[in-house]
Amino acid sequence: MQEEAIQGEKIRIVSEMAASVAHEIRNPLTAVRGFIQLMAMPYLDQTKVQFYQQISLEELDRAQLIISDYLAIAKPEPEKDELIRLNDEVQYVSQVLLTIANYNDVKIEMALHEGQFCMHGDRNKLRQSLINIGKNAIEAMSESGGVLEIILSEQANKMIITMRDNGVGMTQEQISRLGTPYFSTKEKGTGLGTMVSFSLIRAMKGKIYITSEKGKGTEFKISFPAVRWDSFHPDIRHTSKSLL
Ligand code: ADP
Ligand code: MG
Repeated sequence: MQEEAIQGEKIRIVSEMAASVAHEIRNPLTAVRGFIQLMAMPYLDQTKVQFYQQISLEELDRAQLIISDYLAIAKPEPEKDELIRLNDEVQYVSQVLLTIANYNDVKIEMALHEGQFCMHGDRNKLRQSLINIGKNAIEAMSESGGVLEIILSEQANKMIITMRDNGVGMTQEQISRLGTPYFSTKEKGTGLGTMVSFSLIRAMKGKIYITSEKGKGTEFKISFPAVRWDSFHPDIRHTSKSLL
């Protein structure tokens, strides 16, 4: 490639990255804003305040991580490989999504799976990808109100996270464009959220199944290879602490 063409390509990548960073930072900031508002409520007990503070700090850390992640694209660091208890993560993600749901008159119903299963992956990347998908589901119901169901289940050695909404739904053509950069049907959308989520999920050996019907709603099923929690030495199990 000619020097000029290489420069042009670099500029294109850098400006696309800048747009992604802005998009990804907005989610944790919105969540922190919500928690600060909650903390201003009168007669809030101290444990709740501490809980909101903890999540706000974790979300701010996540924002920081996202920035360094994108900056690290030029110099990629090895992926973190943690043992993740999905029950904890699904609870965490639901809690973060609740602040966004409250703005949009949307309810969240969560069903956990109490089995002894977990997965391998990078906890922050998992959170980021699930929050992006959940946020889209909430936004799909913002006009009408509705329920976002978040269900964790286990089937044939796979952990499955289902996110189901009864929002605007998608056409077949829209489904096929999901995950491609800059596909958005929203006035202020960037069309980068699903692209980032899909590539993170795939990097953790996850699979994504989508069913959707225009005017009815959408279901995302995300599956990851399951690992038995008790097959690990207690020292290793200890490193994956419960976050809530
Ligand atoms: P953005 O949210 O900025 O538009 P995304 O990449 O997150 O970008 O999503 C791309 C598009 O995919 C959205 O604009 C929307 O049209 C569609 N989409 C994603 N999830 C859903 C959903 N749950 N229901 C309806 N449409 C969805
Ligand atoms: Mg989005």
